[in-house]
Amino acid sequence: MAPSSPERAQPVLRFAPSPNGRLHLGHALSALTNERLAMAMGGRLLLRIEDIDRERCTPEFERALREDLAWLGLRFEPSVRRQSEHFGDYVVALAQLRERELLYPCFCSRREVQAAISAEEVASGRPWPLDPDGAPLYPGMGRALDGVQARARIQAGEPHVWRLDMERALALVADALSYRVFDTSGLSRTVAAQPARWGDVVLARKDVATSYHLSVVVDDALQGVTHVVRGRDLEAATDIHVLLQRLLSLPTPLYQFHELLLDEAGRKLSKSRQSESIADLRARGLTAAALRRQLGFS
Ligand code: GLU
Repeated sequence: MAPSSPERAQPVLRFAPSPNGRLHLGHALSALTNERLAMAMGGRLLLRIEDIDRERCTPEFERALREDLAWLGLRFEPSVRRQSEHFGDYVVALAQLRERELLYPCFCSRREVQAAISAEEVASGRPWPLDPDGAPLYPGMGRALDGVQARARIQAGEPHVWRLDMERALALVADALSYRVFDTSGLSRTVAAQPARWGDVVLARKDVATSYHLSVVVDDALQGVTHVVRGRDLEAATDIHVLLQRLLSLPTPLYQFHELLLDEAGRKLSKSRQSESIADLRARGLTAAALRRQLGFS
């Protein structure tokens, strides 16, 4: 039997919000785009709660976001995956990478990283390179740490993150990495993935033994997601996801990136900038039908 390709199996889509604030119009756009594509393709629509951040995510925000989605008329399959209930799955994936010596612990504080970057900039007379999100690339001090010393520091309980050794990871992946972007007509085109531009990304944070990148890849695979539909702000991060899928022998879904909604100042809507929430709009008397129309959905 021919192996099933993502296009042939029943499509599985997901909306994956983080309950760390109220949902805004950008989230509505993302959820509605997933719904529209799931309906058009006869696919399933899942909800995943991305709540690994135990400080910023709260049950109240989760309740509120589910209320907002229900008010919008969005219907997801009843079984909802909450990431905070599955840390064990991420630990397994992390262990696989660690066994292959693709991870190293890093004990540096933010200030130490910044000091190393500043020193490099002074020495070279050039600005330090940035990742696609505009954050400085990690200068790699932790990579040189002696294994015995590192283990002793971990055993002593010293806080640390786990970083992917990008060079080693890419050396393992012999051929060029790519993924496919699908469009509404069902066609797809191949896009090259360039994970090197992210440097040694953090795969397990200091506070929890996982990260957005690792959890999203593990969950998409465990939930059988075939089509990932997300905003353009996560397009570049897909390079990391494709690399992790290859390293962990997981399938790569098809991807589609929708445009972002901007505020009057041209900035993308964001919870941290207190963009007007769906709840605010509802309180001002906007109906769900009007909101759907405003975003181009009937
Ligand atoms: N949880 C992510 C967010 O709220 C989206 C996850 C994804 O689409 O990969 O931005």
